[in-house]
Amino acid sequence: MVDFDLINKSIFVAGHNGMVGSAICRALNKLPISLLVADKEELDLIDEFSVKSWMNKNKPEVIVLAAARVGGIYANNSYPVDFLLNNLKIQNNVIEAAYENKVEKLLFLGSSCIYPKWAGQPIKEEYLLTGELEQTNQWYAIAKIAGLKLCQAYRKQYGCDFISAMPTNLYGPNDNFHPLFSHVPAALIRRFHEAKLSGYDNVGVWGTGNPRREFLHVNDLASACIHLLKHYSELEPINIGTGEDISISSFAELVSKVIGFNGSIVYDTKMPDGMKEKRLDVRKINKIGWKAAITLSDGLTSTYNWALANDIF
Ligand code: GDP
Repeated sequence: MVDFDLINKSIFVAGHNGMVGSAICRALNKLPISLLVADKEELDLIDEFSVKSWMNKNKPEVIVLAAARVGGIYANNSYPVDFLLNNLKIQNNVIEAAYENKVEKLLFLGSSCIYPKWAGQPIKEEYLLTGELEQTNQWYAIAKIAGLKLCQAYRKQYGCDFISAMPTNLYGPNDNFHPLFSHVPAALIRRFHEAKLSGYDNVGVWGTGNPRREFLHVNDLASACIHLLKHYSELEPINIGTGEDISISSFAELVSKVIGFNGSIVYDTKMPDGMKEKRLDVRKINKIGWKAAITLSDGLTSTYNWALANDIF
């Protein structure tokens, strides 16, 4: 197994304020490394010149590219230009500057939505580009596919150690809890919490409740990223997940229990279901020694407690 030594390296986490980037920073801060982050005023990732000059000046040895325009099914559908163009710009700027500054290792983070809409379950890495994409998140998916291809291109043409990982649906501290633009875990935590406080009889959940999703706590994702930096160096992207999925209806019941809401659930079938199912095959990452550790019930409980402690609602 490849062993890349992170000790004493200067590691730049792009996107350190987001849910993913902040979790990776928390995990990296426990290691004897030197962490580099930059706020928007100092480094605008959308701007090529800003990225090149910051990178020339700060010379990171390792980069984790966790910066992206992200959002749930409604946000993706509503802001196609932002999801496609901003993500392309961010990743092109960072990956090109990484090559120019001889960065030793770069980890690019994508998403399980890069896989075809009708992919067989569980989804293996090799199913990439074997069928049409889900319409609701195609903008984001196309950008992420371009990003992983750019990492492959740099590896092929210049021998760069640029790797890509595709996490399943994520949740945890610092998630976006917006009622409309969030992903389902944060959306439902908020909705059930507000319903409990207001004494409502029922709570609305989008779609039919039938789609199935796999959920990974972001702290588990962070530990997977560190594992991959140390032990993975291949052309092909690698999946990160639990390998287990749950229907949206069972998920909503679990959230309702965690929050302590005693009313009923009603389904708003005018809202889209998106992909029918999306469970990753995680045998490849399991084989190199990493497994998810946080159960969904524990992860949702700690995320709810985090949101309460941080006055999110
Ligand atoms: P997706 O995996 O890209 O579809 O991500 P989402 O987290 O946005 O949605 C996952 C599933 O949860 C979809 O089937 C949604 O229709 C369903 N869902 C149910 N209620 C909600 C909600 O309030 N917000 C979101 N974002 N999705 C919801």
